[in-house]
Amino acid sequence: MTSRPQATQGMNRSGSLPATPPVTGASRLPALPIFEQVYEHGGMATIDRQATTLALAHALSAAERGLAVIPLSRTKLPALRSPHRDDPDPAGRPCHSECGRFGHGVYDASTDPVRIRELFAAAPRATGYGIACGLPPYHLIGVDLDTKSGTDSSAALRELALRHLFTIPETVVVLTPSGGRHLWLTGPPDTVVPNSAGRLAPGIDIRGAGGYLVGPGSRTDHGVYTAAPGTAGLAPASCPPSLLRLLLPPPRAPHPTRPAAGDHGQGLVQFVLAAHEGQRNTRLFWAACRAYENGIGPALADPLVAAARDTGLTEREARATIASAARLTGHRP
Ligand SMILES: [Zn+2]
Repeated sequence: MTSRPQATQGMNRSGSLPATPPVTGASRLPALPIFEQVYEHGGMATIDRQATTLALAHALSAAERGLAVIPLSRTKLPALRSPHRDDPDPAGRPCHSECGRFGHGVYDASTDPVRIRELFAAAPRATGYGIACGLPPYHLIGVDLDTKSGTDSSAALRELALRHLFTIPETVVVLTPSGGRHLWLTGPPDTVVPNSAGRLAPGIDIRGAGGYLVGPGSRTDHGVYTAAPGTAGLAPASCPPSLLRLLLPPPRAPHPTRPAAGDHGQGLVQFVLAAHEGQRNTRLFWAACRAYENGIGPALADPLVAAARDTGLTEREARATIASAARLTGHRP
């Protein structure tokens, strides 16, 4: 049976910030324990199917809050296998779902209930769901406080908070089966937080753009992920600015080599044009970073904006994303 680690008191209470006002119905979600109860009383014969049904129910509930989701297997990995697993792209540029099929990990993530049902129908062994980080509207940042290797990551975070003068706001906390905790924070729309492992402190991993968090209600080989008591209905709180600064990498030195602009730039524009809703901003950001790293950022800014507008982003959104890519790669927007 699953062990349910108790929430460590203190972290949420130490913050003096007021709770973030709820975002569109986020505070009125049906309690997750309803699903839990159904599961706990389920018979063993139907347990896998039931686990998939429950994972789908949780995933749809998360999507209602605006969180883009993908089905996960018991190992916490995306449940859908890559359609390119036997045929890796010889050009070296991986497909991020331009081919239109499922199986591109976090690039499959969606808030559309029809698409989510399709994803789960294609993944009959899914027992959980992942929540894509870095996407609108929340621009979710996951602070993953691990308990592996005997590190006290919660203490490490408190120490960082003291040293850098921020408080951990009251926010959604998800308890992991191994006794770890995920804090959900939101980032500003024009800043992309990269994934990192142990960069802040040992045992603290950050899930940002291109990463995902195991959603509450997910069942894995090690047990069930659950929302910490009293936090399931909260809206994710804003990441404190001084914590956000710690999450951003230092600007890189300008790239020494400058490949020809022609083909490379066109590929990046195509990459943006092929974006589904839900990945438009992530793709634009990725393409803009590559453009700046290769010295064609300024030249490609207008074509990228045009491509992004073609996918439905506004010019303002597109320019903000490109500016943020410029900053992150150490360039002036
Ligand atoms: Zn593909």
